Amino acid sequence: MSAPKIRNIAIIAHVDHGKTTLTDQLLKQSGAFAAHQAVAERALDRNDLEKERGITILAKVASVVWNDVRINIIDTPGHADFGGEVERILSMVDGAVILVDAAEGVLPQTKFVLGKALKRGLKPIVVVNKIDRGDARPDDVHNEMFDLFASLDANEEQLDFPMLFASGRQGWAVKDLNDPRESLTPLFELILNHVPAPALDTEAPFAMVATILESDTFLGRVLTGRVEQGKATVNMPVKVLDLDGKVVETGRLTKLLSFRGLERVPVDEVSAGDIVAVAGLSDTTIPYTICAPEVATPLPATPIDPPTLSMT
Ligand code: GDP
Repeated sequence: MSAPKIRNIAIIAHVDHGKTTLTDQLLKQSGAFAAHQAVAERALDRNDLEKERGITILAKVASVVWNDVRINIIDTPGHADFGGEVERILSMVDGAVILVDAAEGVLPQTKFVLGKALKRGLKPIVVVNKIDRGDARPDDVHNEMFDLFASLDANEEQLDFPMLFASGRQGWAVKDLNDPRESLTPLFELILNHVPAPALDTEAPFAMVATILESDTFLGRVLTGRVEQGKATVNMPVKVLDLDGKVVETGRLTKLLSFRGLERVPVDEVSAGDIVAVAGLSDTTIPYTICAPEVATPLPATPIDPPTLSMT
């Protein structure tokens, strides 16, 4: 076992409660590689860029560095149509930040994604966001969140959730509304202290679950997931197992990519605990297991449900 200097978290919320804006601010305020440039691009011309370059730039994973710890933040859909995808994404993380709009309060997707996170045993951090709104009602919304946790059968540890008040747009988070509103430092610190580092076996043979599938103009099929055990090196031979353990294909990992800021950068080696993207496999889909040839059984994974299948 080892404890890499990594935290993997999901960011979850009802649509429009501010995930993108808060993630951009975390990137700006962190030591993320090339983050400033990436954020500027994203803020300026998001839709055009997405159209022009596909989903390759705006990966679902943003990676920021705080006090030498790399925090992989995975954007998680809130809608019930993506139930299976939410479960697969939550299986890669050890913590979650749940955002709730301080004026709108708890809405259906807040409940849906929180329910999934609690069921996985995560201990979410609550961020009551958009406190700068004139119609913000921070105390009411705090109570609504407490009632929501209770209604979803949260255990005692989960009910004792840490909470911050924030404005993602203005780039600050505070524990107490009387605290000075300076930066997102309280949120960075809470993530480092509250979310456990991934505790996975780096010595076992390599295995990961393909969790997100994308098509990239240059790389072809790109599969993203968390390395569950072992290490992979570039050009390493691998095999792919479906959920029944049948070998789907054998091949080589021609590219290994790790996340820095909003970009994926090629690396020579990846190890258990990191969220990575791999290329070189042509028949692999989600949620198959990509592994060293000696691995005999697939890793557990949530099967694809029909609505997700029709989206890919
Ligand atoms: P997402 O759907 O959760 O990713 O939400 P976005 O980050 O795209 O934000 C949705 C809308 O809320 C946008 O119009 C943002 O400008 C606005 N917004 C985001 N964060 C804040 C905030 O802290 N305060 C206020 N007043 N508006 C915000």
